[in-house]
Amino acid sequence: MPPTLADVAVIGGGLSGLMAALLLEQQGTHDVALFEARPGLGGRIASMDAAGAPVDCATPALDRFDLGPTWFWPDYQPQLARLVRDLGLTCFEQYDRGDMLIERFAGEPALRRPGLRSAPASVRLSGGTGALIAALHERLDARRIHVGHAVRRLHRAADHVELEVENARGEIACWRARQVLLALPPRLAASRLAFEPALPAELLRDWLATPTWMAPHAKYVAVYERPFWRDMGLSGDAQSRHGPLVEIHDVSMPGGHAALFGFVGVPATARRGLPAQVLQTHCREQFARLFGPAAAHPLADGLKDWAADPLTATDADQDAAGHHVAAPPARPASGPWSACLAGIGSEWSAEYPGYLAGAVDAAARGVRAALGASA
Ligand SMILES: Cc1cc2nc3c(=O)[nH]c(=O)nc-3n(C[C@H](O)[C@H](O)[C@H](O)COP(=O)(O)OP(=O)(O)OC[C@H]3O[C@@H](n4cnc5c(N)ncnc54)[C@H](O)[C@@H]3O)c2cc1C
Repeated sequence: MPPTLADVAVIGGGLSGLMAALLLEQQGTHDVALFEARPGLGGRIASMDAAGAPVDCATPALDRFDLGPTWFWPDYQPQLARLVRDLGLTCFEQYDRGDMLIERFAGEPALRRPGLRSAPASVRLSGGTGALIAALHERLDARRIHVGHAVRRLHRAADHVELEVENARGEIACWRARQVLLALPPRLAASRLAFEPALPAELLRDWLATPTWMAPHAKYVAVYERPFWRDMGLSGDAQSRHGPLVEIHDVSMPGGHAALFGFVGVPATARRGLPAQVLQTHCREQFARLFGPAAAHPLADGLKDWAADPLTATDADQDAAGHHVAAPPARPASGPWSACLAGIGSEWSAEYPGYLAGAVDAAARGVRAALGASA
C-alpha cells in the first residue's frame, strides 16, 4: 500500500496531542494525523463511572471520577484556565471544609485536626479532567484521529518523515508527514520509538533521564451514594503513614455521586506481587478505619496502577521518586531531525513540567515551532 500523507503527524492522544491538533486546525493546518496507541483518548487523563467501569474520556459525562489528574490551579496556570473557559467547562474548588485525619501508627486511632486549606485553591472540573478530553475531541475532525494505532518507527527521508504505524490487529501501515510532534512523555518516546537515523546521543540521554510525572503512582477511588463523612464534620482529607493509602481527598461530583480517592503508598515494585483485589480490600478497610463502617461498602471502587501501564511507565519509572525535573530540550539542536521533530508532552514544558498546564504549554510551543518550520 502506498504511504498516506499528512502535513503534521501527532504521536499521542492525551491532552498535549489533542491540544496540538486543535491549535493546528485553528491555524489552518487541517492535514493532521493523530495516532493514539490506546483504544481511547486521554492518556494519563482516565476516569471510571459511578459503577467503577473505565469510561471513554472522549464522551461527555458528568458523573465520573478521575483515575489520573484531578486538579489545576487557575491562579498559577492562566493558559490552562483560559482553555477551560474557552471550552465552556465548569470548574469548582476542591472540597476542604471540616477536619482532616492523620494516621500515624497501626493500632492507634487517627488524630483529628483542623483541615489545611490550600491557597490558592485546587480546582476541579465538572465531569472530571476527562471533560477536557471530551471538549477537545468534540472540536476536532474525527477522521484525523486514529485510536488503537501505535507508532513504532520514524525514518527521516529527504523532505519528510516516514512513520511505521501498527493497528490493534498488528497490521503495519506507512505514513508520511512533513512535521512530527511527540505528544508523549520524553522517556517513553526515547525508549519505545525507533528513530532512523538515531537521535543525537546526548538528547536521547536527556529524554531517558526525564521522569514521567506520576508514572510510579497508583490511585484508588471509592464511590458512595452520599458524602457521609461531611455529616461528621470531616473534609475527607487524610494523611497516613500506616497505609496502604497515604493521601486521601473528597472527590465527590456536584450533581453526581460522592467519592473519596487516595494515592497508594505501596511502592510500584512491591505492588507488582500484590493482586489488585487484595490491595483494594486493604484500601476499603482503611477508609472504614478512618471514616466509619459506611465507608467499607462503596457502591463501586477502582484502582489504576500507572506504573503497570506500558503506555505511561517504563522500567525506569518503577521507583517511587518520579519527581518534577527541568524540561529537557524539545528538539535536536542540529542534524537531520532538527527541523521536523518536536516534543510536546507535558514534561517538555519549561514552566509546568508534568502538569496538565504543561501539556497545554508544550503543545502551544510545539505547534508554533512546527508552523514556523513549514512556513
Ligand atoms: C495519578 C496521576 C495524577 C495526576 N494528577 C495531576 C493533577 O492533579 N494535576 C495536574 O496538573 N497533573 C496531574 N497529573 C499529570 C497529568 O496527567 C499529565 O501532565 C498530563 O495528562 C500529560 O498529558 P500528555 O498529553 O503530555 O501525556 P499523556 O497523557 O501521557 O499522553 C501520551 C499519550 O501517548 C500515547 N502513546 C504512547 N506511546 C505511543 C505510541 N508509540 N504511539 C501512539 N501513541 C502513543 C499514550 O497512550 C498516551 O495517550 C497526574 C498524573 C497521574 C498519572
